[in-house]
Amino acid sequence: MGKVTGFKEFERKDESYKPVKDRVKHYNEFTVPLKDKDMTEQGSRCMDCGIPFCHSGCPLGNLIPDFNHMVHQGEWQKASWILHSTNNFPEFTGRLCPAPCEQACVLGIIEDPVSIENIEKSIVERAFKEGWIKPQPPKVRTGKTIAVVGSGPAGLAAAQQLNRAGHTVTVFERDDAIGGLLRYGIPNFKMEKGIIDRRLAILEAEGIVFKTNVNVGVNYDVEELKKFDAIVLCGGATERRSLPTPGIDADGVVQAMDFLTQQTKVVFGQKVKNQVLATGKNVIVIGGGDTGSDCIGTSNRQGAKSVVNFEIMPKPPGHRSSTTPWPYWPLQLKTSTSHKEGVERNWLINTKEFVTNAKGKLTALKTVNVEWEMVPGERPKLIEIAGTEKTWKCDLALLALGFTGPESTLAEKLGLERDVRSNYKAEYGKYQTNIPNIFTAGDMRRGQSLIVWAISEGREAARQVDIYLMGKSDLATKNEEGDLVGL
Ligand SMILES: Cc1cc2nc3c(=O)[nH]c(=O)nc-3n(C[C@H](O)[C@H](O)[C@H](O)COP(=O)(O)OP(=O)(O)OC[C@H]3O[C@@H](n4cnc5c(N)ncnc54)[C@H](O)[C@@H]3O)c2cc1C
Ligand code: SF4
Repeated sequence: MGKVTGFKEFERKDESYKPVKDRVKHYNEFTVPLKDKDMTEQGSRCMDCGIPFCHSGCPLGNLIPDFNHMVHQGEWQKASWILHSTNNFPEFTGRLCPAPCEQACVLGIIEDPVSIENIEKSIVERAFKEGWIKPQPPKVRTGKTIAVVGSGPAGLAAAQQLNRAGHTVTVFERDDAIGGLLRYGIPNFKMEKGIIDRRLAILEAEGIVFKTNVNVGVNYDVEELKKFDAIVLCGGATERRSLPTPGIDADGVVQAMDFLTQQTKVVFGQKVKNQVLATGKNVIVIGGGDTGSDCIGTSNRQGAKSVVNFEIMPKPPGHRSSTTPWPYWPLQLKTSTSHKEGVERNWLINTKEFVTNAKGKLTALKTVNVEWEMVPGERPKLIEIAGTEKTWKCDLALLALGFTGPESTLAEKLGLERDVRSNYKAEYGKYQTNIPNIFTAGDMRRGQSLIVWAISEGREAARQVDIYLMGKSDLATKNEEGDLVGL
């Protein structure tokens, strides 16, 4: 334990943010890190609980009290070793994770929880700066070949683990750059893309081969894929949800992912023909999740005239709801840095029509307020409230409605089963599909989820592949208590 009285002496501190007026002028990260002394104090707030709920709150089973203690002791290199023993990419989770570990932290019952995510980020950034993160190529190669399809966090974690086990790994990615949603979904201001490239250099030096612009099943025959000894499918859940609403095809109604991807490409100097821009427009973002928040941040950076957000669900409470007590993932209002940059948020509102002019261009949205009728044992029912119809001026509507599941191409061409939610079917903990040498992990298996889950599934799937090929595995696994409570 860091310091017996640490949690009594020191208040929680987090990194701060540059002022809104400055940060909306660019697409770079805008956080201001804490000083080392502050970080060691934050590490000392950890109580080293007899039952560390933070540990089971983390899908990776991160050894949180152990690295908190090392940070308090100033033993940053040891902290980095402990952190990397369960997490291949703490620089991604340290920036982007919603931190279920903090919601499960015991200190959170009476005080602000330990700033675990910030400590994680500080450790990995220090480790990169000091040159402690070095390629670890395997000493012996097994002669087994593995294809990983998809280069998001699940694919990258699976590839690194399998390569370290001595297998020869090739990662196929249909985009022009590696990273999955980390590259082209999440905006540069949330995570600068150099953070991915820095880690990729390590993975390449370890011997992993990356092939971009290869769309398996489309411009790369699955018969070629079948020549590998094992295959890990990490293609994500990329089938976008739309709205069955009149006018949905109007010029000016755009999928959030197209909008976000285009902007990231432009940030990196690529020419995007007819880029969709929010500049000078009345923008309405439909969908109140992470993707919606990213669209709000991007619209403000592009210079939108106004930004409005619609969410069909009720406004969550400002504090942890009594229906989700500690240590569960809380039902609670989330206000992101993008929200703070300027948006009018509306809850319990449904879009009825996208209104266009004679040329088919979007000019307005018609909405109605709604409520949810809850009948025990039945699905919640959406009720429209008569007399609440409203028309909103709008030149650009961004659909940030999430994803319905993975695409079907690979399942069809490889003869794979899917579950009732259309995800690729493989038992949790086994990751093996109905074809024995084909495994699947991340959003493709579990549906739209989180980076931390993708890394966790990629790691665990790698271990199962190793066992399948070699009969045993020395790759690390989280213990059974490493499962998340309530998310
Ligand atoms: C806008 C947005 C913001 C988000 N923000 C956060 C956040 O802040 N925090 C968080 O934890 N999570 C966030 N998420 C969710 C998170 O990004 C995903 O859960 C995570 O990336 C899933 O990882 P994955 O590896 O399973 O799949 P993905 O990251 O989706 O990667 C799948 C990859 O497979 C490739 N692929 C698919 N099919 C083929 C094929 N046939 N051949 C070759 N390549 C193929 C795709 O091109 C893609 O690159 C966000 C998601 C979005 C859309
Ligand atoms: S639950 Fe919180 S206080 Fe307890 S060990 Fe984990 S981080 Fe430390």
